[in-house]
Amino acid sequence: MRSISVFGATGSIGESTFDLLMHAGGRGAFRTVALTGGRNVARLAAQARALGAEVAVSAYDDCLPALRAALAGSGIEAAAGTEALLEAADRPADWVMSAIIGAAGLAPGFRALRHGGTLALANKESLVAAGPLLMAEAARHGARILPVDSEHSAVFQALVGEDIALVERIIITASGGALRDWPLERLAHATVAEASRHPNWAMGQRITIDSASMFNKAMELIETREFFGVAPAQIEVLVHPESIVHALVGFADGALMAHLGAPDMRHAIGYALNWPARGALPVARLDLAALGQLSFRAPDPLRWPALRLAREVMEVRGQAGAVFNAAKEVALDSFIAGQVGFMDMAGLVESTIDKMVTRQSLGNAATSLDMVLQTDAEARAVARSLSGQEKD
Ligand code: NDP
Repeated sequence: MRSISVFGATGSIGESTFDLLMHAGGRGAFRTVALTGGRNVARLAAQARALGAEVAVSAYDDCLPALRAALAGSGIEAAAGTEALLEAADRPADWVMSAIIGAAGLAPGFRALRHGGTLALANKESLVAAGPLLMAEAARHGARILPVDSEHSAVFQALVGEDIALVERIIITASGGALRDWPLERLAHATVAEASRHPNWAMGQRITIDSASMFNKAMELIETREFFGVAPAQIEVLVHPESIVHALVGFADGALMAHLGAPDMRHAIGYALNWPARGALPVARLDLAALGQLSFRAPDPLRWPALRLAREVMEVRGQAGAVFNAAKEVALDSFIAGQVGFMDMAGLVESTIDKMVTRQSLGNAATSLDMVLQTDAEARAVARSLSGQEKD
């Protein structure tokens, strides 16, 4: 029986993963090793009971009493805190879903690779902040990383049986998010609630706002480079409001292979769960005649400066991705807290990168996860100071 763990089980990706696991037979089909969550202890416990997990872990120490109470009588171990998350990742599992939000997902994902199984990677921050290290760690332990982001899963599927050397370009699509059609001058005044209403995808709040600012797509540009090893100039972003075509791969003969599907993350999660086979998935089937037409347009650089920043980060390489990710997380926190405006986020990230470049040679590659986490911490301090939250 295949053993599985889900990190970030109570989130949007985690819930979709849980749904697919239950659909595929639940505890009768999988041996569940570890489920992790954050503050949603009741849901974590309910999932752990349903799947008969060995251990349920909350990321927060103060959640332990509530988690213990919720699991009382189940025989399921309860644990909490950062060390407990790593201990959960140390438990071997054949298939691990990495779906913690943000840089907090880096270390557990790295640890899970040591067992040489499959890491289904939703946590794009891992690749943005530490792509080369993560890939090297996987290679060292004979582990496999499968993409879960819908665009990267789409590219991965379009590449089956193909020679990557014959790929001319990879096009990832973007819905444009909640504020896509707003007049430019209104964007500066966008509220958190307005930026949190995604037109097509039901996702966690942070990634939904990142979709509106295109920081999500900016991260995905970097993710594409790290996953598929193509040059930045070969990766394009195309605005596609309907979110039906997730990505396209262009080959040397001019052919474009597109992946289409309903905007439902269970497509990509299910592909990673069933890979290398395909399994029946409980997702909506597309009715293209009913859809009638699909539209595409180039992204507006003034509306979405995050895309330019991602290209600059890819030029610098080294640890610039870690700085970009950390600064982006601080900028997003600051926007959610009402400290900066919607259009100020990109400026804050850019200023953080500029300041970090003068401090150290960001172009030097990180040689350890600790180094990445150190850069992440420094970049956060700089970004917080620039946003007026604390002294640098
Ligand atoms: P959510 O915010 O919905 O869920 C995040 C999960 O991580 C929850 O289980 C949460 O616990 C847990 N968590 C929160 N903070 C911490 C922490 N400090 N340490 C450990 N665990 C924590 O996020 P999403 O599911 O939207 O996204 C997860 C990842 O997947 C992200 O990297 C995102 O970029 C990526 N992704 C998401 C997509 C989507 O459709 N949502 C699409 C493609 C990629 P709790 O809720 O219990 O507090």
